[in-house]
Amino acid sequence: MKRKHISELKDHIGSLVKIAGFVESIRDQGKIKFLIIRDITGKIQAVVTKDSPAFSKISNLNLESVVSIEGTVKEEPQAPKGYEISVSDLHILSLAAPELAIPVVHEKGGKEVDVSKRLDYRWIDLRRPEKQRIFQVWTHLEEGFRRYFLKNNYTQLYSPSFMNAPSESGSEVFEVPYFEENAFLAQSPQFYKQMAMASGLERVFMTGPVYRAEPSFTTRHLTEFTGWDFEVSYIESHEEVMDILELLIINGFERVKNLVLNDLEIPSQPFPRLTMPEVKEKLKSLGVESDREHDINPEEERKICELVKKDTGHDFVFITDWHKEARPFYHMRYEDDPETTKSFDLLYKGVEIVTGAQREHRLEVLKSQAREKGISLDSIKDYLEFFRYACPPHGGAGIGPGRIVMQMLDLPSIKEATYLPRDVKRLGP
Ligand code: ATP
Repeated sequence: MKRKHISELKDHIGSLVKIAGFVESIRDQGKIKFLIIRDITGKIQAVVTKDSPAFSKISNLNLESVVSIEGTVKEEPQAPKGYEISVSDLHILSLAAPELAIPVVHEKGGKEVDVSKRLDYRWIDLRRPEKQRIFQVWTHLEEGFRRYFLKNNYTQLYSPSFMNAPSESGSEVFEVPYFEENAFLAQSPQFYKQMAMASGLERVFMTGPVYRAEPSFTTRHLTEFTGWDFEVSYIESHEEVMDILELLIINGFERVKNLVLNDLEIPSQPFPRLTMPEVKEKLKSLGVESDREHDINPEEERKICELVKKDTGHDFVFITDWHKEARPFYHMRYEDDPETTKSFDLLYKGVEIVTGAQREHRLEVLKSQAREKGISLDSIKDYLEFFRYACPPHGGAGIGPGRIVMQMLDLPSIKEATYLPRDVKRLGP
């Protein structure tokens, strides 16, 4: 018999069916035993009476074992769903060890096990339907983004993780042995997506792992995370990059709303845009202290989002016009205001989720901006070569989907939103 999913059973009342899944609970009432079976689509009560050949097998069964069951779907007003399976036979496909390392179902009022222990046993943690939903959100968010990219003639590229020089300034780079020399793990696909502009690809997107040797213990930083990146040619300013992002986010959120989270709020266009000086002014009037002149700290990110939400009802806000000190050398600066970059961050419910900018494509200006930041031209010589044989004006953004999913589901940390998170203390499982 072909296996059915549990969600299909409502259409098979009265029929003999086969299902398979995990045994979530076992209740023994002497002459009759009740099991709750769980698969990816839901749960069903299975009833085993003494006359069934399955009856004796249940005494050997441990919680969370994997079984297949054959039985008849019957209406039963007292069953949790109004119908259940009356079991005619049961096969143990895989027996679980008797003591679970972490519980899948919590006792009523019981607290969730500490995150670090749950991550040690991530595969058991993920047996819970609400955890599986996190990755359905990822899947459809990416689907929505991808649909937008494909509709608008973007080319997908894959960039390498091994590099001969760090891809971003700063010390947050992993250096790894690489045959006769050392390689650096990509901190972003920045240089390579820009190279695609010099190749004339005009519109590209990339998804892949990025690495940051962040010694931090925040709820939003991992040492390895998934980055979604795009880059487009022939833009006139970073404003166009923000227009694209708004459409991307809306496309992604609509897919998630249609397929996973029915009550998700779809942001409306345009998203609020504030310049950094405007943000600082507003924060000052709220009495929010700052330790950074040209940047904002997590507390300021939260506060400005609260204010924007109050004033406009919007969960998103772009912060534009960052001072050159807070931005990398490759961000373009305003002709009439060379201290300020044509760049932005996008914040969602109090957390930065995207950074973007128009890039500097004029080789001489790029060199002088790198020199000004104390970057030796020799260390970025391969990158600089991309601009020697002409490169269209361009811009783009780097998106952190882990942070988007964390905020969308109000999860306490990016670790909860990541399949297998990596941080300073965690390299397994
Ligand atoms: P932050 O200021 O929060 O450390 P960043 O400015 O270093 O972030 P970018 O280099 O601009 O971040 O990276 C683009 C996006 O990648 C960020 O907006 C964020 O969504 C995500 N991101 C950056 N660093 C991390 C990290 N360590 N873990 C998870 N996501 C990250």
